[in-house]
Amino acid sequence: MAATAQKDSGNSKETLGFQAEIKQVLQLMIRSVYSNKEIFLRELISNASDACDKLRFQAISDDKIYEGDSDLKIKVNFDAEKKTITVADNGIGMTRDEVIENIGTIAKSGTKEFFAQLTGDQQKDAQLIGQFGVGFYSAFIVADKVSLKTRKAGEGKAVLWESDGQGEFTIEETEMDGRGTEVTLHVREEDKDFLDQYRLQTVIKKFSDHISLPVVMTVTEEVEGKKETKDEVVNKASALWTRSKSEVKKEEYDEFYKSVSHDFSNPLAHIHSKMEGNLEYSMLLFVPEKAPFDLWTQEHQVGVKLYVNRIFIMDDADKLLPKYLRFIRGVVDSSDLQLNVSRELLQDNQIIQTIKNTAVKKILDLLEDMAENDKEKFKTFWNEFGRVFKEGVVEDFVNKDRIGKICRFSTTFDDKEEQEVSLDDYIFRLKKDQDKIYYLIADSHSSAKNSPLLEVFRKKGVEVLLLSDRVDHWFVSHLKTYKDKEFYSVSKGDVNLSENPEEDKKKEEETETEFKSFLDKVKETLKDKVSDVKLSHRLTSSPVCLVSHKDDLDPNLKQIFAAVGQEASQMKPILEINPDHKLIEKLKSETADGKFNDLSLLLFEQAVLSDGGTLEDPAQFVRRVNDFIE
Ligand code: ADP
Ligand code: MG
Repeated sequence: MAATAQKDSGNSKETLGFQAEIKQVLQLMIRSVYSNKEIFLRELISNASDACDKLRFQAISDDKIYEGDSDLKIKVNFDAEKKTITVADNGIGMTRDEVIENIGTIAKSGTKEFFAQLTGDQQKDAQLIGQFGVGFYSAFIVADKVSLKTRKAGEGKAVLWESDGQGEFTIEETEMDGRGTEVTLHVREEDKDFLDQYRLQTVIKKFSDHISLPVVMTVTEEVEGKKETKDEVVNKASALWTRSKSEVKKEEYDEFYKSVSHDFSNPLAHIHSKMEGNLEYSMLLFVPEKAPFDLWTQEHQVGVKLYVNRIFIMDDADKLLPKYLRFIRGVVDSSDLQLNVSRELLQDNQIIQTIKNTAVKKILDLLEDMAENDKEKFKTFWNEFGRVFKEGVVEDFVNKDRIGKICRFSTTFDDKEEQEVSLDDYIFRLKKDQDKIYYLIADSHSSAKNSPLLEVFRKKGVEVLLLSDRVDHWFVSHLKTYKDKEFYSVSKGDVNLSENPEEDKKKEEETETEFKSFLDKVKETLKDKVSDVKLSHRLTSSPVCLVSHKDDLDPNLKQIFAAVGQEASQMKPILEINPDHKLIEKLKSETADGKFNDLSLLLFEQAVLSDGGTLEDPAQFVRRVNDFIE
């Protein structure tokens, strides 16, 4: 909270210090060379609009709070001589404590992430500021002093807050007739081009046409040689989502998106739809182009806003959309909901359920269509949100096949790290009689693609999905099958790609007899480490690999369990040996016991390493390698 406080005795003026983080934000503001300085107006108008929304919402249960003034609006004016711009609203207002709380500190969670993400690159950091929603401070982009006067609805006393953005602010009691908030910017010399009626009108139109409240300016016009002033509504003042699609221009959608999402970039795509009939509602939803920095934090909050008849009700994403679509932004407005609907009621509200189902369906339609017809866009989407989207297979059972269809993967088809292959592509390339979708899970793309487990698949041209996202285990275990093909891990002990099982079996039996005593000897040597030692049918260039039992968990999944302190399974892996490999020949002909032991261990250890595992005793491993080299 505020660091320093000096109370003037006699009046209630206090000087307080900004939180350290805010000082940093302010410095960023002041130093940043913005190409779009005008966003300060968007931020202040959007705060004024939020304040009116809040008042209107409270008035639903108690309309005395209007104090006779229910004609909510935002006024923007300027004074060229005093070099000021004011943005005023008759919304909810703030108490003294609220001013200190809201304007003096950044109380939001995620502050740390915000600062961790600062790059020092002004352009990028400016975008972060937008995402994070440090909106009010953007006033200091054009002002070297800001005053905020506010009176909370229902309270007698008003508050004056002032700051030059240098590290401190003052706060004192004041008088105010109307309720609400008035922000006055003392515009810097170099930004005085904003002190112009036409300029301000243009900016307001650009940013605020979609706002449902009127933004009013007092304009001066010459009528028959005489100057006349009058109040004029500058914006369209119709909630954008209630307008018909054909009336809304792309720029308007873009600006609306920016104001609901705190994003500086345009959205990737949008859905605008109005339902009529039994249930009436409209939705305007956006797919962002970039993931917000807090997509992965628990407190992730901003999402889809719920309106009832254009009255803002709440901003609670998880009621309106499932979690795997938490990156979607926008609004849903329904005239069938009760205005006093509470968060708890929403939980199992039939109307909300219907809206939610439609929204999910429309989003999936959009993504499917994008994947089909706009591959570049879809790639952007997938790179940003693919890992979140894949959670849908677990969360949204009803739609899991559709979700699976939209998902993209890395595979051995081209070994690319970019996830570009769909399950339909995979199915299209199936080998004759192939009834499984093979996958390999590892903790990184490169350890997946270099795994010895893939050798036989590569040799036979059987494609394997290379999975290395955290969610992938859940993905395959919940989807289970796609188009009747079972997902099957290549690390299972019984993978068999033989085209000629009869003949191969005979050959194997011969080799097995030949290797029997050797395998037993290796097994004896490694009995603490592996449950079995077998000849491999899957290796071509590597001497050994580790596989799991048919019914056991993937080794990589075990590692994840282990990392969170959970013992997943006691089963030891199976060591498979490539009988055609030179090193194996060498081991087989080794007669000295000590050397045989060392070489066996060495082979086991390299199998662990190429599986992405860690060694129990790396120093011993190094010693063995060195001995071997000598
Ligand atoms: P955000 O709008 O994302 O919350 P801002 O920095 O724009 O962030 O505003 C911070 C807070 O200050 C708001 O959440 C609100 O509580 C308060 N505030 C700002 N402007 C107004 C206003 N005109 N009327 C009432 N409260 C306001
Ligand atoms: Mg704001």
